[in-house]
Amino acid sequence: MSDQYTFSNPVTRYHQEGFEPQPQDGPGLAGELSPAPDHGESTYRGTGRLTGRRALVTGADSGIGRAAAIAYAREGADVVLNYLPAEQSDAEEVARLVEEAGRKAVLAPGDLTDEAFARSLVATTVRELGGIDLVANVAGKQQHVEEITDLTSGQFEETMRTNLNSLFWIVQEAVPHLPPGSTIVNTASIQGYQPSPNLVDYATTKAGIIAMSQALAQQLAPKGIRVNVVAPGPVWTPLQVAGGQPDDAMPEFGQSTPLGRAGQPVEMAPAYVFLASAESSYVVGAVLDVNGGMPTP
Ligand code: NAD
Ligand code: MG
Repeated sequence: MSDQYTFSNPVTRYHQEGFEPQPQDGPGLAGELSPAPDHGESTYRGTGRLTGRRALVTGADSGIGRAAAIAYAREGADVVLNYLPAEQSDAEEVARLVEEAGRKAVLAPGDLTDEAFARSLVATTVRELGGIDLVANVAGKQQHVEEITDLTSGQFEETMRTNLNSLFWIVQEAVPHLPPGSTIVNTASIQGYQPSPNLVDYATTKAGIIAMSQALAQQLAPKGIRVNVVAPGPVWTPLQVAGGQPDDAMPEFGQSTPLGRAGQPVEMAPAYVFLASAESSYVVGAVLDVNGGMPTP
């Protein structure tokens, strides 16, 4: 079976076409996507790069977060998995894969827009895993709205709370527990520098995540805590079909990248592993673009 160490042509490595429109209600389920995304279930091979790490991963049920959680477990980490209660079936699948890797999986469903709940995830991780030294903030909300006059205050607020406030709450809560050598990996997007006209609220949060991460990276570096960012391009996940893009954008999704295809979640995993591992010890406040070749600042 080929894995992330198998050389192949990146153009033809994965599904090259666009996608059939297949609308789901939010937050959407990975289990219902067609074609099924590759989260590394049979393609990610661990080599012990995170042995003994104690990780909190948000958005861990599906998409990029699932790929990160599977990779972290196969690299030797125990993982607390956060997701929304509606995603229980996806999350149980990830827990099974973490356990198959011989690691501990802790299911922690709940809504990150609830400050008390978001903060409680840190205590849950410390209690269940005996500490915390890796935080991967992957959860995110993206809903396209074509006209500013149709963007409700409710949606604007919820996008901010999910993508930005929860990051602040989790990091603030985690820092007193994070020993030197700990790592925080946040999730931005190509939208942070190339905002689409119909993603005003979302793109704003993604630019904000880059700024917040670079400020925090400088503040926390002297404590030995490294903060870095992964900025994905178009990746085949439930986010996109559950309101992230208009249905009629799906046949073109990913086609305009230089590689000419959407990314698969597993292709994000090595970036999350690298930034979480000791081998990136001198990488601080970096934004690692994983976007099929779109130029970035
Ligand atoms: P996804 O739908 O699989 O993951 C997003 C997750 O966010 C959901 O599974 C859900 O568990 C979580 N979430 C949303 N609202 C929440 C809330 N209120 N409380 C708790 N959890 C909540 O989609 P994905 O594409 O894998 O998204 C993961 C991250 O990647 C997001 O931050 C997204 O912005 C970012 N991203 C995705 C793409 C892409 O093309 N798919 C591109 C750039 C960045
Ligand atoms: Mg999900």
